[in-house]
Amino acid sequence: MPTATPTSTQPIASRQRIVILGGGFAGLRALYRLRDLTEQAEIVLVDLRSTSLSRPALPEVALAGMSVEHARFPLASAVTRAGARFEHRAVERVDAAGRQLVFDDGDTLAYDYLLLALGAMKDYDAIPGFRNFGYSLCDDTEAPRLAEALDGFTGGPVVIGSARSVWGTRVQVPQLAAPCEGPVAEIMFMVDHELRRRGLRDRSSIRVFSPGQIFFEDVGPTVHANVRPLVEGAGIEVTTGKVLSRLIDGAVEFEDGTSWGSSLSIVLPPYTGNAVIKRSPGLGDEQGFVPTDQAMRHLDFGHVYAAGDGSALAMPKLGHIAVIQADVAVAALRQDLTGKGDIPPYRPEVFCIANRGGVEATLIYSDNLFGGAVDLTLDGPAAHFMKWTFDGYYFHTQGHLPPDLATEGLEMLLRRVHR
Ligand SMILES: Cc1cc2nc3c(=O)[nH]c(=O)nc-3n(C[C@H](O)[C@H](O)[C@H](O)COP(=O)(O)OP(=O)(O)OC[C@H]3O[C@@H](n4cnc5c(N)ncnc54)[C@H](O)[C@@H]3O)c2cc1C
Repeated sequence: MPTATPTSTQPIASRQRIVILGGGFAGLRALYRLRDLTEQAEIVLVDLRSTSLSRPALPEVALAGMSVEHARFPLASAVTRAGARFEHRAVERVDAAGRQLVFDDGDTLAYDYLLLALGAMKDYDAIPGFRNFGYSLCDDTEAPRLAEALDGFTGGPVVIGSARSVWGTRVQVPQLAAPCEGPVAEIMFMVDHELRRRGLRDRSSIRVFSPGQIFFEDVGPTVHANVRPLVEGAGIEVTTGKVLSRLIDGAVEFEDGTSWGSSLSIVLPPYTGNAVIKRSPGLGDEQGFVPTDQAMRHLDFGHVYAAGDGSALAMPKLGHIAVIQADVAVAALRQDLTGKGDIPPYRPEVFCIANRGGVEATLIYSDNLFGGAVDLTLDGPAAHFMKWTFDGYYFHTQGHLPPDLATEGLEMLLRRVHR
């Protein structure tokens, strides 16, 4: 088997090597939180992409004329500035027993600690007919393709929804029918706004389907009650319990045998575990998600941690949860490496802002799914401004999040106002 140069593959005797696999929300959060360890450890971030992609910006790329260049930024400069080394390469598999990565060219990279932040695979090909008759927006290929389709759209039925995902069973999490329906809500409102702006709404219906028994089942009754009038006011029809079976020319078909006419079918694909995990012996659950304990340590390999959409514990699949998990994983890794520091409790919550077109947006904050009492929304231009500020900050600082004080202060304020 070919090997890379000793300097790139062997841990330096005096310094441990930490490898972060994936430079999305979770990987970059971990990288920035580990910066103070660069004296003690060599930190390497590996990604097959040269840019980090901010998926929360993609609805604006697809539906509001934003350039895709504003949804991604170069990883090399971000990683180097953080005092780490960037490896722009595709990983084939992880040899967790041998503590090394195996790249697609057979090269290897040894590590002492590994943080898996590979995200989830968006399985478009699991939907029969998607490549010919479907649109989506989960990456920087699909979002511009949808923007182009919408440009040429002259009216007719629009159908929007999520395909059903299936999860593994090694860790106990809510088994949601879809990874997160926040983007579906965002798409339906933004399509409504865009069609009104172009004078096409009278000639177009918007029908939304959900594979779950409740649309947006990751939030609680107050959020549902607050969002319902917005949906009704926009003339959008939502139907639950509809499991997508295939897309055909002019229609969307469901497992219950029904079919809806469609001139524009926008679908969030099922999520499945990353192919790297599926190819790595013992690393993933039945669906290729990484099973961890509440400290984000792998259930079977103590030196491996996971955070973000690729973690089995991440439910729903949300950037906010990816960041919460990265913080916990970094604390666990720090403790293992230095023997210092506490590991914070893992407290997942839903926090997202869905644009609704123009300057309207809805902020959603809820821990109802996890047994908490927070379940609130904030509507209007203030929420839109917050999203604009957050996305701009993330983009211009190359993946940093606003300071903890600002986000914790905002969450505290929201809880007080809505008490
Ligand atoms: C349309 C849309 C809108 C969203 N809006 C919001 C929102 O408003 N708020 C919110 O909180 N969340 C939102 N989310 C969810 C959020 O984007 C994800 O939860 C988040 O991106 C997960 O981060 P991650 O780091 O786990 O994975 P990712 O961001 O997917 O990053 C994974 C990284 O791993 C790399 N990688 C994959 N395979 C390999 C390989 N073989 N070798 C090397 N590198 C590899 C990838 O290139 C990528 O850079 C949205 C998602 C979508 C699809």
